[in-house]
Amino acid sequence: MLSKKLPRSGRHLLRRSFATVIKPPLSALGASARAKAEQLSADWKGTSATGENTKNFLGGEFVESKTQSWIDVVDPATQTLLTRVPETTSSEFEQAVAAASEAYTTWSRTSVLTRQRFALELQHLLRNNADAIANSIVLEQGKTLTDAHGDLLRGLQVAETTCNITSALLGDTIEVSKDMDTSTRRLPLGVCASIAPFNFPAMIPLWTIPMALTTGNTLIVKPSERDPGAAMIIAELCQRAGLPAGVLNVVHGTVPTVNAICDHPSIKAVSFVGGDRAGKHIYERGRKSGKRVQCNMGAKNHAVLMPDANMNHALNSLIGAAFGAAGQRCMAVSVAVLVGNSQSWLPELCERASKLSVNQGFEKGADLGPVISPAAKQRITSLIASAEEQGGKVVLDGRGKQVPGYPDGNWIGPTVVEATVDMRCYREEIFGPVLVVLKADTLDDALAIINSNPYGNGTAIFTQSGATARKFEREVEVGQVGINVPIPVPLPMFSWSGNKGSFLGDVPFYGRGGVDFYTQNKTTTALWRAEDAIGNKASVDMPTHH
Ligand code: NAD
Repeated sequence: MLSKKLPRSGRHLLRRSFATVIKPPLSALGASARAKAEQLSADWKGTSATGENTKNFLGGEFVESKTQSWIDVVDPATQTLLTRVPETTSSEFEQAVAAASEAYTTWSRTSVLTRQRFALELQHLLRNNADAIANSIVLEQGKTLTDAHGDLLRGLQVAETTCNITSALLGDTIEVSKDMDTSTRRLPLGVCASIAPFNFPAMIPLWTIPMALTTGNTLIVKPSERDPGAAMIIAELCQRAGLPAGVLNVVHGTVPTVNAICDHPSIKAVSFVGGDRAGKHIYERGRKSGKRVQCNMGAKNHAVLMPDANMNHALNSLIGAAFGAAGQRCMAVSVAVLVGNSQSWLPELCERASKLSVNQGFEKGADLGPVISPAAKQRITSLIASAEEQGGKVVLDGRGKQVPGYPDGNWIGPTVVEATVDMRCYREEIFGPVLVVLKADTLDDALAIINSNPYGNGTAIFTQSGATARKFEREVEVGQVGINVPIPVPLPMFSWSGNKGSFLGDVPFYGRGGVDFYTQNKTTTALWRAEDAIGNKASVDMPTHH
């Protein structure tokens, strides 16, 4: 099936003013990528990578939307139209909520063993279909194939931990008085919703799908409109894993669909991961309609290089964390704070970073791919330019990067900018392959910089001193800390713990927090007097009334 021109709404042409309006044909993908796109379209019901529409998943069916408003999904390396996602209509959205509400009445009452069995089947299917999911991510999101497998793996780990749901849901019980027992059970909330960003098309839907479902809820997922394919494959795998119709539904769209989620009275909880603007809006709107809401948002993650660090390890870690995934990770190191003599490592840092290979994600040896869109590229390059205008120094410049064979890709090479804390490039999240370098005289100065920053997602220190590491860990006001570890994303036996401006809500994603978020406690006190038991032997003793 070749890509074909389909009518597009004027609204999206306007909204995507940086997009190339004339899309190249599918052949522009190159033979290997095109073969993968055709395979994906043939193998999976809900998604397409050959120009057809992505479907909604409603009540167990992959359904073509009747909307008039479609959003193009394009390959960021070539601008080829891969698929289009619908702005789900109100009646389709209502169908999703109705299906989830109906399914809840039975799913919430299924045995916990049935839900554990689903998790066991799902993790197996995810692993067996990793190539398809990773291929979809490379095509739609642009990251390298190895990184796309990592994207899935970090989500798969959440699915794996939910295989332990039989223990995670164990409640408490104690005899509080004679013949009187109090017990607490964890019960599901009802219909929940999950809204995902573009940068981890598999991992972030998988932060919520297995947690919400194994705890007995039903779920409506809204993937990013820029790369919906991985979520659609995951939805089909849930179905293959035996999930009954309606327990998981997928709707696509942008702000109107998100607002419908925030406002619907039948939806009890909303999980959001994405940028600050959307996160604040969703938190306020969702809370206003009485929902439980958790929002993971933007970041500015600092890595401190102490002069006693192992230079080789520190520089390689920093480069991987700053430029991997083209800097489009919420835990990417976007600021390096060079303390004292480590400032002399800057030329070596730039030298090593300049050697990274920027290329299309399926190409051999690619270290980082394109950024997500021409608009994102424009935004990132303008932030680099702002540093120059404000007196900063671009010491490694990735602007103007060309990749042979891919003239239309959204390329930006690794970029390093010497700056100060008052500059825009430091104050705003760049979300691209740009490392801002600050200088500090002492560890205390570095701590003061980090603690003054409004974000609190992640931070790292590189040092050979346990005492220095301990002081840093104790005093830094950031929720996820790495010591000689550049991207300290907690595995899902722990919970996500970004804080300050990077999080809104009370209960975090996955791990014990995930179980807490998707459940409510019911505490029951019951009195069953032993003497009321029937069939007792009559007492013939003299009554003494005590
Ligand atoms: P985004 O906020 O643009 O989009 C996220 C989701 O919200 C999408 O599904 C989108 O359709 C919807 N949305 C966008 N604008 C909206 C609006 N105004 N009102 C309502 N809904 C809206 O984010 P993105 O560009 O897809 O992702 C990148 C951002 O996500 C970065 O800021 C990054 O730091 C953040 N992120 C954070 C974490 C974390 O765990 N803290 C993880 C991944 C990404």
